[in-house]
Amino acid sequence: MKRIGVLIVGAGPTGLTLACDLARRGVAFRIVEKAPQLFIGSRAKGLQPRTLEVFDDLGVIDAVKGGGAPFPPFRLYSGREIVWERSLEEMLRLPPAAPRRDAPHPRTWLIPQWRTDAILHDRLVALGGHVETSTALEGLVQEDGGVVATIVRDGVAETILADWVVGADGGRSFVRKAAGFTFEGETNTEEHTLIGDVRVKGLQGEACHILTKAGDVASRFSLWNLPQSEHYQLVVTMAAGDTPELTLGSVRALLAERSGRTDIELDDLRWISLYRINVRMVDRLRIGRVLLAGDAAHVHSSAGGQGLNTGVQDAYNLGWKLAAASQSPRGEALIDTYDEERLPVAAHVLGLTSKLHRAGFQPPPSWSASSIDQLDISYRSSSLAFDDRTCASRLAAGDRAPDAVLPGGGRVFDVLLRGPHFSVLAFGERPLASLGAVRVERIREPLEPYGVSEGFVVVRPDGHVGAISSSAVAIRDYLERVGALPV
Ligand SMILES: Cc1cc2nc3c(=O)[nH]c(=O)nc-3n(C[C@H](O)[C@H](O)[C@H](O)COP(=O)(O)OP(=O)(O)OC[C@H]3O[C@@H](n4cnc5c(N)ncnc54)[C@H](O)[C@@H]3O)c2cc1C
Repeated sequence: MKRIGVLIVGAGPTGLTLACDLARRGVAFRIVEKAPQLFIGSRAKGLQPRTLEVFDDLGVIDAVKGGGAPFPPFRLYSGREIVWERSLEEMLRLPPAAPRRDAPHPRTWLIPQWRTDAILHDRLVALGGHVETSTALEGLVQEDGGVVATIVRDGVAETILADWVVGADGGRSFVRKAAGFTFEGETNTEEHTLIGDVRVKGLQGEACHILTKAGDVASRFSLWNLPQSEHYQLVVTMAAGDTPELTLGSVRALLAERSGRTDIELDDLRWISLYRINVRMVDRLRIGRVLLAGDAAHVHSSAGGQGLNTGVQDAYNLGWKLAAASQSPRGEALIDTYDEERLPVAAHVLGLTSKLHRAGFQPPPSWSASSIDQLDISYRSSSLAFDDRTCASRLAAGDRAPDAVLPGGGRVFDVLLRGPHFSVLAFGERPLASLGAVRVERIREPLEPYGVSEGFVVVRPDGHVGAISSSAVAIRDYLERVGALPV
């Protein structure tokens, strides 16, 4: 039986992000995908600012920027007449998008999921990896010290022993069921959504075109421009009792019925799906040596565009921990912090998206809009967050390390954080002995969002603040504990 470090099951955005991260860290892994090719639909088309930062770190930001566009406005029609046009920020009651010193990519970015997947796949290949397509995981048994996995390709079974199996195999996850995770929650039995990619002629401008007969958004047919494409994403929500055929003819009939428009032509339906909203999640992300990430662990409404983004963040949280575990048994302790840090985020996302879904076109006044961009996700209560200061400050251990312009020029993200390493920002003059592979930057002037004048800030490989302390000894101890320095 062949042995492998990590077996990733599923080559959606979650599995591909993890594969890229492990590949650049030199971890031995395989990634299997049961479909013969990557997913072809546009489904999750909004990348949030935090995801763009992760993609920047993984080396794909130029391709993502080149293949997408800023999120377009929403435009409501009554027949042919435009009733209103509102930006995403107006729809969500967010302040207008503006450049930020602490975040290089402050706006949600529109790019079809198939293109995001293709970009991650290309990056994986450039890093020396590859996806084994038409290869399904069909068996999984945990043993002492490993997982026996049976993968099947062209009817031929292969058994491998993996140190870790990561189920990134989507909402119907085989891994989740085989390993015995629960998946509690509910299914929305009142409505479902037709979603697909279709070529459109007859619409002007870049927008989410919300077509109605008389301005009633409850009975709408939405067509979203997709960047650099003649294809649009169609989205039609309907009562659960209505079950349209998944054909071009049926989609054309629905458009005519809901908008009364005969001047819009639809053809070349490339992908279509009738999608029922499930709001479900696991109660843990790890059982033994099996871990779950992305939709395999949590599913919810697409309102607020969080799904793909949450999967990418799961993978990014897990990658460096799996690398540490593959290097030393001490690193294994980090794996439990994956569950500790990411499960509360999943629960928050389920609550947020359910609230937004219920609110429809009127976000509730009480909601916290800033969580949409995922920049304020924090692991403050994690056992990996170490902060021995006595006074509270805006930035705490566990928070996302913000970007900033360094006194000597350059940005924190570019100069210090990009790459798979740990970093230490050494503020003031306190001495710090050499820290091996840990990148250290001495900063003698105040750096606004950090708010530390004398002391050290450790930034983890996933861009979260690990520790803040004025003690060089405490910082060294911390770096040893998290596997950044040999003991
Ligand atoms: C119809 C639909 C529409 C959606 N629309 C939106 C939207 O508008 N906005 C939004 O934010 N989100 C949307 N989502 C959610 C979003 O697409 C997901 O959150 C995102 O794709 C999750 O990525 P993932 O990698 O975790 O899982 P997936 O993208 O589902 O990838 C899982 C992969 O695992 C593979 N796999 C499954 N079982 C096995 C096995 N046994 N062996 C090997 N491989 C296996 C699958 O073939 C698949 O390629 C939509 C989802 C669906 C299903």
